[in-house]
Amino acid sequence: MQDKDYAGRLRKMASSAVLLNERLDRHTSMGVGGPADAVVFPGSVEELSGMVAFLQENGIPYIAVGNWTNLIVTDAGYRGVVICLKNLRNHRLEPGGGAAMSLYAEAGVSLSELVGISVREALTGLEFAAGIPGSVGGAVRMNAGAYGSEMKDVLSSLVLLESSGAVRREGRDGLVFSYRSLDLPAGSIIVAAFLELMRGDRERIQARIAEIAALRRSKHPLQYPNAGSIFKNPKEAPAGRIIEELGLRGLRIGGAGVSEMHGNFIVNLGRATAADVLALIAVIQKKVFEDRGVRLETEVRIIGEMS
Ligand SMILES: Cc1cc2nc3c(=O)[nH]c(=O)nc-3n(C[C@H](O)[C@H](O)[C@H](O)COP(=O)(O)OP(=O)(O)OC[C@H]3O[C@@H](n4cnc5c(N)ncnc54)[C@H](O)[C@@H]3O)c2cc1C
Repeated sequence: MQDKDYAGRLRKMASSAVLLNERLDRHTSMGVGGPADAVVFPGSVEELSGMVAFLQENGIPYIAVGNWTNLIVTDAGYRGVVICLKNLRNHRLEPGGGAAMSLYAEAGVSLSELVGISVREALTGLEFAAGIPGSVGGAVRMNAGAYGSEMKDVLSSLVLLESSGAVRREGRDGLVFSYRSLDLPAGSIIVAAFLELMRGDRERIQARIAEIAALRRSKHPLQYPNAGSIFKNPKEAPAGRIIEELGLRGLRIGGAGVSEMHGNFIVNLGRATAADVLALIAVIQKKVFEDRGVRLETEVRIIGEMS
């Protein structure tokens, strides 16, 4: 991507700004991350597929992101093009079978918008997603979940852009979900999802959402930049509980600290670098392994060059 001509050709394809040498701490919810060679914001599936074809042809690495809420980008940044899908925002409701309605949403639609639609239309199934700050693409890729439900429970099919440039629809049965992950072939991008929701009682839906919102406010350190849960919960116990039992709440490296409110959150207390966050992650993993024999795996995605 050092070659200026690549940037010029991307600009010709792009309906909005192509940001060159863009600092990603301006985008990530954790507020850390060095520069990417370029960040693009395709405004349609055609534009996205043209860009992916161009990047593939020229051997330029790329990664898709949505709302940047589950990412730690290293301080050295990302050599390649970050494709942010926030401008793919079409959505519509279609009748499904029986009491079900099918909600089609492109990758950049936020979960909060979908939760709003489900309340307005009295549809049940997405209450668990209230307060998860992700986009449809990121939430499906991460199989985001909370309070007993996950994206896989409401997803009926996906529209995928493959690295070959083909756009195909894949039904639920052809998808392999696991805890906070969906297996995707390398280079493929989620373009849109079809969610199956049932007709429900609006008051009950609203009450459940209010209950979840109150739980989140009481447990999550929302006043500081963060990336949600840092670690997956191991089978032994919730990661946050183990971290708290080891007395690691409040542990600080540079500008990054283990939240005083929730052991599984690392917060940016101001001017944290990715190196601070990654060092804190390593210290926690070491202490938890030494004390409990448990290997904590990160739930957040770490991207970028390691310096
Ligand atoms: C305060 C807070 C609370 C949170 N609570 C929860 C929670 O309760 N449960 C939970 O599961 N998560 C939670 N999260 C984490 C995060 O919000 C979710 O994982 C969310 O679904 C990520 O969506 P995103 O659009 O921000 O993804 P991003 O952070 O942009 O990307 C996440 C991953 O998905 C990939 N990706 C993104 N879009 C696409 C696409 N279109 N195609 C292919 N790959 C893609 C990226 O490459 C990356 O690997 C929380 C985060 C915060 C900050």
